[in-house]
Amino acid sequence: RILLNTVLDSSKENVKGVAVTVQDITREAELNEAKSQFISNVSHELRTPLFNIKSFIETLHEYGDELTETERQEFLETANRETDRLTRLVNDVLDLSRLESCKIYHLEAVDLAQPIEQILRTYRLNAKDKGIELLQEVEADLPAVMGHYDLLLQVFANLVGNALKFTEAGGKVMIRASLHSPETVRVEIADTGIGIDQEDQNAIFERFFRVENRVHTLEGTGLGLSIVRNIVQRHHSRVYLVSEVGVGTTFWLDLPIYQDEIAAIAALKL
Ligand code: ADP
Repeated sequence: RILLNTVLDSSKENVKGVAVTVQDITREAELNEAKSQFISNVSHELRTPLFNIKSFIETLHEYGDELTETERQEFLETANRETDRLTRLVNDVLDLSRLESCKIYHLEAVDLAQPIEQILRTYRLNAKDKGIELLQEVEADLPAVMGHYDLLLQVFANLVGNALKFTEAGGKVMIRASLHSPETVRVEIADTGIGIDQEDQNAIFERFFRVENRVHTLEGTGLGLSIVRNIVQRHHSRVYLVSEVGVGTTFWLDLPIYQDEIAAIAALKL
């Protein structure tokens, strides 16, 4: 779409000419559209758990005496779960908006063995409880990559968290880091879980997209992979996946190797 600004010079009796400025407003319009879509999605997503919490509290308030102790406990547990969901949603929306508003991130040398070890420690108990084997394979003498430690940690946490969520007991989740090329290190997160249909494989990176009719759909916010994609782009990279329904899913990303001759800290502008 083009916005035409015409300026007529009518200060003199004879009109001498017409100045025309041409401005492309397509991108601006698209951004505004995306922004209002996002706000409308967020409001919708927030409203559902809020409505549920309010209904449970009202019922307890009005009919509490008529309920059995077990029913009361169930109501309270559900309200508690919905509050947790609301908290996750607000946290994810804040993470995403912080990522989008911060234009510059400082990248530095990151030894991937460290965030990977941290993720394993974080999820070890969760995996054990679910009866899933959580494994790591970090190649020996792997060079450091150019990265942002906390943001990479968030990428691995989201991907490993999803892998554990969508894998049944007896399955495996593996996080692997290895030299991929003279310039890049590849990190893979592979699971033997339920897999993702071909037709949903692109959509899962969209905000608020969740594959429908799945047991764990309501636990998620649908924002985890949007956050992953945004962070990976800030590392000059992309995130890919291969998946087969009933067999498993592997996500991977290639990170640039840190080079000493490059400034110790490089500012990355998007
Ligand atoms: P959520 O908070 O719902 O996990 P994500 O953006 O992280 O949001 O993921 C979007 C959807 O992609 C999930 O709801 C799930 O249906 C699907 N998905 C993501 N990772 C996996 C995986 N490892 N195995 C199967 N499905 C997955």
